Amino acid sequence: MIDSVILDLHKRLQLGEISCVDLVEEKLSALNQNHYNTTNFLLDDLALSLAKNVDQKIKNKEKIGLFEGIPFGIKDVYLLQGYPASASSNFLKEYKSPYTATAIQKLLNVGAIPIVKENCDSFGHGSTNENSIFGPVKNANNMDLVSGGSSGGSAVNVAKGYTVFSIGGDTGGSIRQPAGFNQVYGLKPSYGRVSRYGLMAYASSTDCVGPIAKSIDDIALVLNVISGKDFRDQTTFETAEVDLSKKVDFQNLTIGYYKDFLENDGLDNEFKNRFLKLLKTLESKGVNIKEFDFKEVGTLVSTYYVIAMAETASNLARLDGSNYGERIEANTLKESYAITRSQNFTSETKRRIVAGNQVLSQGYSDEIYLKAVTLRNKITQYFSNDFQEVDLILSPVSPSSPPKIGKNLNDPLAMYLSDIYTIGFSLAGLPTLSAPFGTPTGIQITGEKAKEELILNFAKYLKEIIK
Ligand code: GLN
Repeated sequence: MIDSVILDLHKRLQLGEISCVDLVEEKLSALNQNHYNTTNFLLDDLALSLAKNVDQKIKNKEKIGLFEGIPFGIKDVYLLQGYPASASSNFLKEYKSPYTATAIQKLLNVGAIPIVKENCDSFGHGSTNENSIFGPVKNANNMDLVSGGSSGGSAVNVAKGYTVFSIGGDTGGSIRQPAGFNQVYGLKPSYGRVSRYGLMAYASSTDCVGPIAKSIDDIALVLNVISGKDFRDQTTFETAEVDLSKKVDFQNLTIGYYKDFLENDGLDNEFKNRFLKLLKTLESKGVNIKEFDFKEVGTLVSTYYVIAMAETASNLARLDGSNYGERIEANTLKESYAITRSQNFTSETKRRIVAGNQVLSQGYSDEIYLKAVTLRNKITQYFSNDFQEVDLILSPVSPSSPPKIGKNLNDPLAMYLSDIYTIGFSLAGLPTLSAPFGTPTGIQITGEKAKEELILNFAKYLKEIIK
C-alpha cells in the first residue's frame, strides 16, 4: 500500500478539495509563527505566485502532475536563483543566489513549490544545529532538546508538517541524524546519484543531496525526481528509478550488523537493547542475520574529521570578502582578509578551517591528511568486503538521545564522537536511510552503491513487522 503525503495532497488538489494557495498560505503562516526556529527566509512571493498558477490550471480542468503545488523546504545551503542562500552564516547573510541548484531545479520543473530556506548549522558544520547565526533549532518533540544537525530546520519542518518534504544535505550524517532525532525518514543517497551542483560545498568528497520526509514512499518519489546524471557534476551517474511496488523475498536476504558498533562506550543501553531486539524480530521472521567485526571503529571519527576539515578549509578559502560576503576594510589586503574571515565565520567553522589547514600543511600532511586518506580507503574496502556476504547492513543512527540545547556547545569533541555511526557510510559513499524505529533515534539501513530501491523496500518490510 502506498503511504504518501504527496499523493494524498495531489489527489485533494486535483479534486478541488483544497486550493493550492490555501495550502501554501497555511504552511507559510505555520513557518512564520513557529517557535522551533526552523526558518531562515520565507519564499512567500515566489510560493504564492506558483500556487496561483496551479489553482488556475485546476480551475481550467487541466490535469496536474503529482508534484505540482506540493510545498517543500530547502536547507539554506542550496542556491535558488534570486533568493538568499546564507548557509546560516554572517558571511553570506546578504548573499543572493546567482543560479539554481540542479536538485532544486528538477523539483521546480515538476511543479513543486519551494516555500522556505531552512535553518541549519553554518556551512553544514555541526550535529546539533546550534552553530547558526539564526540561533539553535529546537527538537520537534521536546523544545529543550537540540534538533540534531546540520539539517535540523529541515527535519523539524517535516516532523511538524510545515513542509511536505525538505531537501537536506548530508556530508557525514546531516540528513540521517536530525531525521532520527525528530522521528522522520531521511535518505543519504549513494554519492553521485544526485547532483551537488548549486549545493555549497562542505567536504566535496562526501557531500550528498537527499530528501527528508514522513513516509518511505515520499522519500522514493522525491529521490526519483532529483536523481540522475548532470554534466555540471562529474561525479553523477544515471540510475533506474526506484520502484517500491516490486516484491522482494526478504527471507532470502542476509542482513549484517557490526558487533563492535554495539560495544561503543557511548552507546546508551536502551538503544543497544532495542537494536538487538529488532535483530531478534528479524530472525524470528526467517531473515538471516550475520554478525561482523568492523575492526576500524576506533578510527572512524578521526578519519572523517581530518578529511572533512581539510576539504572545508579548502572550499571556504574562497570566502574572503572579495567575491563573496561583506568585506571589512583594513590597512592591507592581507589584513582585510584576516579580519573579514575572523569576524564572519562562527567559532565552530573557524575551528575546522584552522584544523583543516593544519592537517594539509607541510610537515603534517603526510602524517595526518594522507594517513586519513589511506584509512578511508581501508574503511571503504571493509564495507565492500562485507557486502560480499550480506545484502544490507543495519546500525543505530546515533549512540544516544538528543542532548539539551547548550550542553555540547563547549564540548566539540563530544559532538564529533556522536557522529560515529553515520560517518563511515559517508566516507564509503554508500546509500543509507535513517528510519524512525528500532532505537529511540531510529535505525540506519545501508546498502551497496545504487541499492536505494532495496533499502527502501526493506524499510517498508521492517516497519510492517515491528508494528
Ligand atoms: N556532524 C557532521 C559534521 O559536522 C556531519 C555534518 C554534515 O553532514 N553536514 O561534519
